[in-house]
Amino acid sequence: MKKIFLALSFVFIFSLSVFAYEPEIKENRAYFPPVIMYHDIKIEAHDKFDVLLEDFCAQLDWLKENNYKTLSMEEFVSIIKKGKPFPEKSVLLTFDDGYSGIANYAVTELKKREMKGTFFIITDMLGVFSTRYVHTTEKQLKEIANNKLFSIGSHTLSHPHLLELNEDDLEDEIEDSKEFLEKLTGRKVLAFAYPYGEFDDDIVKRVIDAGYEAAFAVQNGQLCDYPARYTIPRIYMGLDLCKNNQELFKKYVQDYKNMPPEAFEERFEPLPVDAHFFEKKN
Ligand SMILES: [Zn+2]
Repeated sequence: MKKIFLALSFVFIFSLSVFAYEPEIKENRAYFPPVIMYHDIKIEAHDKFDVLLEDFCAQLDWLKENNYKTLSMEEFVSIIKKGKPFPEKSVLLTFDDGYSGIANYAVTELKKREMKGTFFIITDMLGVFSTRYVHTTEKQLKEIANNKLFSIGSHTLSHPHLLELNEDDLEDEIEDSKEFLEKLTGRKVLAFAYPYGEFDDDIVKRVIDAGYEAAFAVQNGQLCDYPARYTIPRIYMGLDLCKNNQELFKKYVQDYKNMPPEAFEERFEPLPVDAHFFEKKN
């Protein structure tokens, strides 16, 4: 009897610990599919974060040929909320800042291949252009948002360093940008992207309180007490990273789950394909 009791207790404790552990699985980056971060797509690149149209197209083609399924933000959030695993070969494509290259090139190329993408918009910059940066207009964004292949996320009102703001400004940047985009597009804005990838516990809490379902950083952030879906690291694509180096793009996508935190740093120098964090797999 004592043995049976012991055995039952063990089973009971074990099952409790499994249930208690389940949310932990979602705390781990390994739960998420690869998340790619683009900025502008251009014919001729000027900035380090630009991606050439031809490279972008080659990346989309490779994803398609290798049966990767691109997710909309609605699908991404729904899978997390249901606590389901992501399809094995799924990937989330995101584009920050709302440059004109998304309307001119990204949307067209994604549509051609029936692939999905999420655009994180700086609302005050809509329609703003200088010799160096051209942003999409409100009209273009409305058109983009009319297509279910595309999701719109907030990247604040003015792209400030959030860590330097007072409470009121922080609230405006996080909440008003969401409200503005929802009014403009007629769609719910589910996700937020931190400018410069900067956040702390207070900022994350405000993002949750504002009603966002997920938030994206750059680096692999671990200083936060909140669920991992509010600090999802992204693979930073840019001219140096992908010019003539599609192999690196493939490695990032294939090895997202195994990469150490330093692989997510904002990088302005090319990474050699045989960089140390790929050694494990080679
Ligand atoms: Zn940005």
